[in-house]
Amino acid sequence: ANRHGELVRFYNAELLQALENRYTLLKHLRDAITEGDQLRVYYQPKFNMHTGKVCGAEALVRWQYDADTLLAPDQFIPLAETSGLITKIDTRVMETVFADVARLQSSGFALPVSFNVSNLDLLAPEFLGSLESLLLHSKLTASLFEIEITETQAMQNYEAVAPVLSRLVKLGVKISIDDFGTGYSSLAHFTKLAATVLKVDKSFVAQLAGKDKENALAVIKMVRNFAEQFGAIVVAEGIETEEQRAILTDNGYQIGQGYLFSRPIPFSQFETLLAQEKQL
Ligand code: C2E
Ligand code: CA
Ligand code: CA
Repeated sequence: ANRHGELVRFYNAELLQALENRYTLLKHLRDAITEGDQLRVYYQPKFNMHTGKVCGAEALVRWQYDADTLLAPDQFIPLAETSGLITKIDTRVMETVFADVARLQSSGFALPVSFNVSNLDLLAPEFLGSLESLLLHSKLTASLFEIEITETQAMQNYEAVAPVLSRLVKLGVKISIDDFGTGYSSLAHFTKLAATVLKVDKSFVAQLAGKDKENALAVIKMVRNFAEQFGAIVVAEGIETEEQRAILTDNGYQIGQGYLFSRPIPFSQFETLLAQEKQL
């Protein structure tokens, strides 16, 4: 069903078999990275919820497995992480992001873009080397780039990850702690993470109108206060309804992402969206 650009989370028999066979999938993934240009970078726009305007985007990887199959990251990122392929994928995504941000810049849009990294990337000298060399050679300002790392992964390896994040912040790159609120940060550890953005986990946004809404609201408020204390900004993701949007803006959230505003879209559609917005 990907004629509409939708992700495929179910498969034809052959593909299902391939996915169940770790070895086959791994082989295909390796080919997808080394030979083909089967990895796609989609962009989910971030909106300033007060003005309704696009204020950035998050890069999200997809795997164009065959002509009608666009695989979601949860179908290959875990395997990539355990097999050592993740850093190659994330490097490819980062290179694409730099090229796309440069294209946006040359058409007059200086928009920040975030991309997701695994903690393994931050411990890989070749990944950090690629990032530094992209910053050096692209002549783009480092503040246009934001690294998203999940709270869980940052904490898992925090002794090694924290100094890397500080170094990146010194280079001018922004650091976003993703899925925040699910990772059991200790306060002492958190303060060393050099976070510039806290991205509250979408499970809390989803619960804002449900039966657990009191708890979810408490978390939403706590994360905002916490961010304020540390001079970080908050971003809310997974916003699907007008009701969720209203609760978030009432509680001091300005930047939002979610199906209510836009799904992740290919770069060309993102460019079109920006061009249309400019004409309004
Ligand atoms: P994430 O970083 O938390 O990304 C947000 C996920 O929520 C994306 O799923 C996005 O498509 C989805 N989403 C956006 N708006 C809504 C909404 O309104 N409702 C709901 N229910 N979901 C929404 P996606 O693209 O399938 O990515 C899943 C995860 O895979 C990401 O979660 C991220 O952890 C990982 N990932 C994606 N791209 C990369 C990458 O390039 N590198 C690495 N290392 N991980 C990646
Ligand atoms: Ca993310
Ligand atoms: Ca997230």
